[in-house]
Amino acid sequence: MAGLTKSPSEEREGLLSGVNTPSVSEPDTSKASPFRQQSTRLSLAGIGVLLGLILSVFYWLRVPPRLVNNLYLGGQTLRSNGTQKFKRTVLLVSIDGLRHTLQSKHYLDRGLTPHLLDVSKKGLRAKFMKPVFPTLTFPNHWTLMTGLYTESHGIVANNFWDAETDSEFHYNNISSCWEPHWWLGEPMWETAKKAGLITANLMWPGPAKTLSGASPTYFVPWANKVSLDTKLAQILDWIDLPLSERPQLILTYEPSLDQAGHAKGPYSREVNETLRYVDGFVRDLHDSLVARNLTEIVDVIFVSDHGMTDTSHPELVYIDDLLGENGWKAVKHEDGWPSMGLHFDPSANASHYLDVLLTAAEDNSEKFDVYTPQTMPERYHFAHSSRIAPVYVVPKTGYVLTTRAEGDVGLSKGNHGYDNNDPTMNAVFVAHGPFSSTAKIAHDKQSSSYRLRGPFNPNKGWHSTSDDTYVMDGFQNVEIYNLVMKLLGIPQAEAAQTNGTTGFWDIFF
Ligand SMILES: [Zn+2]
Repeated sequence: MAGLTKSPSEEREGLLSGVNTPSVSEPDTSKASPFRQQSTRLSLAGIGVLLGLILSVFYWLRVPPRLVNNLYLGGQTLRSNGTQKFKRTVLLVSIDGLRHTLQSKHYLDRGLTPHLLDVSKKGLRAKFMKPVFPTLTFPNHWTLMTGLYTESHGIVANNFWDAETDSEFHYNNISSCWEPHWWLGEPMWETAKKAGLITANLMWPGPAKTLSGASPTYFVPWANKVSLDTKLAQILDWIDLPLSERPQLILTYEPSLDQAGHAKGPYSREVNETLRYVDGFVRDLHDSLVARNLTEIVDVIFVSDHGMTDTSHPELVYIDDLLGENGWKAVKHEDGWPSMGLHFDPSANASHYLDVLLTAAEDNSEKFDVYTPQTMPERYHFAHSSRIAPVYVVPKTGYVLTTRAEGDVGLSKGNHGYDNNDPTMNAVFVAHGPFSSTAKIAHDKQSSSYRLRGPFNPNKGWHSTSDDTYVMDGFQNVEIYNLVMKLLGIPQAEAAQTNGTTGFWDIFF
């Protein structure tokens, strides 16, 4: 960060030229008295305070004023871009299936996304963002909106059967899956609207309306094969609206990378081409914000819902072989994929079939696990919901559950949905705008205090700052809701309860 140079007169007069410097006289050790020792201590304390003042003034002087201003840009505060007044604005962009962990072979490390990397260098990125289990599109997009784990927000898979209402949720059956009763929790656009903000939703996976009847101010429903140019034009239309109509929270969704990953696998030419295509959108969006002088007014946050693993040579596990013909027939509903939630017919001996599956899992521990809500790993936060099937078969990464009838027909070359601790399931987090500028100041502050205090105070929250890139430690996507609340200046008291960590973002502000 470039420091501001002091003017020669400041240099001559000193930074605190109006302050009287206390004179420090030689202590007279021959006549040491308790009073004299006390006054010496007081003088030393005075010097300490003065030094502290000088250091802090020096610190603020080396931070460009524009960045200091970012600390005060929030809520309804207005800032001019030179021609118009703007409120702080958050643009949250989800690139479905953009797999990211800081290691080779992941999507951002292929040399195909120079603009996304450039934006992350100007701003910051996380080492990775961990999705919730199951690592599927709809559960994770609703977690990003609500800050809740799957068991709390109710979207427990892309497709599932709900025993309570005897009805089926299926992500591509809009007439039923948009029913507000499915979507528990409060999405960030609902909270923002309650706080009096205008919001816009461009195809974010989720409903048009929640149970309370709330909907985004502007809503563009999902449609496939809409180009990123069209989406960019819509975003800019919103940003160019007059202040009284302009949204402060804009959500955007792009599915093409996930589609390429499923169809051809994460190492395919098609995925690489789509990475270039998405990167072109990142470039155009950034250029458009630069042209409007909005890069210190609009926070752009790129996220994804999950990663993508190679399943081009899948190991098949035949669930009907495991259960036997009668056992498979007794399954009335199957939830999710690639995991399989099983609801047995009430007349069937479900506990017997559970024992059969548990024994099979013991014999094939490298291939899959079998859980009930009581034995589900705590870290999945996937147990306390009546919508979660009583028996869940969870394959290990690369294994695929199927039946003899289905075989490997229609299997995709890439997939997700596996254990959220698997690095190939990790998602991306890149932020650029007033937030990243403020976060860097906070980081510099911590770094300097780290240097002053020695090696026993690790600079928590930051992985590395090599190559001028600020890389945060990995974190889970349940934290995103609270970040957006903070950026929009919505107080904690007005925000919804989430599974995010209290104070998680405090060190960045
Ligand atoms: Zn997805």
